[in-house]
Amino acid sequence: MEKIKMTTPIVEMDGDEMTRVLWGWIKQKLILPFVDLKTEYYDLGLLHRNETRDQVTVEAAKATQRLGVAVKCATITPNRQRMEEYPQLTEMWKSPNGTIRAYLDGTAFRAPILLSCIRPVVKNWEHPITIARHAYGDMYKAVDMATEEPGTATLTFRSESGKEKTLTVQSVQGPAIWQGQHNTEKSIRAFARSCFQYAISQRQDLWFSTKDTISKIYDGEFKRIFEEEYENTYRVEFEKLGLTYFYTLIDDAVARVIRSKGGFIWALKNYDGDVMSDMVATAFGSLAMMTSVLVSPDGTMEFEASHGTVTRHYYRYLKGEKTSTNPIATIFAWSGALKRRGQLDCLPDLTRFGEALESASLETLESGVMTGDLAGLVEEGFQTTVVDSERFLDAIAQRLAEKLV
Ligand code: NAD
Repeated sequence: MEKIKMTTPIVEMDGDEMTRVLWGWIKQKLILPFVDLKTEYYDLGLLHRNETRDQVTVEAAKATQRLGVAVKCATITPNRQRMEEYPQLTEMWKSPNGTIRAYLDGTAFRAPILLSCIRPVVKNWEHPITIARHAYGDMYKAVDMATEEPGTATLTFRSESGKEKTLTVQSVQGPAIWQGQHNTEKSIRAFARSCFQYAISQRQDLWFSTKDTISKIYDGEFKRIFEEEYENTYRVEFEKLGLTYFYTLIDDAVARVIRSKGGFIWALKNYDGDVMSDMVATAFGSLAMMTSVLVSPDGTMEFEASHGTVTRHYYRYLKGEKTSTNPIATIFAWSGALKRRGQLDCLPDLTRFGEALESASLETLESGVMTGDLAGLVEEGFQTTVVDSERFLDAIAQRLAEKLV
């Protein structure tokens, strides 16, 4: 069989631990036999990031902006414990995801992969709910303080031209706590644009919710910018595609989401997105079945799994044990990137390959062949065969080969 041709490379960012091992197997068993793969390779493994003083992460982000499509393996974000584990580290390098997100000014969209044999905890959810979380500011870039005495706190903004604006926050009679938060018009607008772009690319409705009845200026600004972007830039395309942009208060949104069938994108402010994405992931099933796409306002996309490097399995693998680590979210990161490349470069065979890879993976799971993490989640009475990661990838490869013939 002739291999499927590519014209433009995708950016390939390799990573750490068990997911790095899976990465190699996925390429070797599921992609290289079928696709004449073109990638620009960047090794974001922790030790190589250290050797390059993290320059490799910046180079990978730049390449993503240039080529428009990337696929990323999970990576270690070093903490104190990792500094002890890897004594050769010269610095506690920042999260690669944070660096790439900041460079691309992107928004992360997280979506579950659904199976008919694993029912969501919320019984009426039939289609995936994608969470779009704003990734800048609010509580995550806030300043906090505690005070003991009675007194008054004020909020002052001093412009570069020397003008000042001051508000009284509160007068208190005893010990109190305080927090100052901000966001920027530029970041909110980039968030809005990424959400509308992604909704169009996925042909899904977009919901957005804040608490603008209470937070009239702060959340009100989020609501206003989304409305402005919709009216000025995206309404025509949405109407053409029969899509809806729907704004509602967050408490109303929560009630509607729980009662819905799913199948839409739910955009949320930073903290709301943090909380709701874990709620949605858990209610749908498993972290190992969550994909993530970073989308920048110009449509650049970086695909990855939502989970980490699965450290516990890696140490078992190093001891020579077979592990049953779930590769599905990483496979879907590859299929997502190849489908996007196919769309952008008008290569229908490449897009079809991405689709075939996804359906071969899902059919393998629906046949009962799966990794250990999923076996505990299936409906009662559903027969499963638990296999290790390599056997699981072999089973997918066999189905994929049959489909492509
Ligand atoms: P993790 O996602 O690796 O593991 C969390 C739990 O989920 C573990 O119990 C693990 O066994 C299970 N799990 C996750 N994915 C699985 C899979 N595919 N198959 C089977 N079980 C799976 O997160 P963690 O343990 O908090 O972090 C490990 C490392 O990953 C850390 O160094 C962290 O910095 C990194 N991390 C990276 C990313 C990323 O690159 N996007 C995201 C999260 C964590």
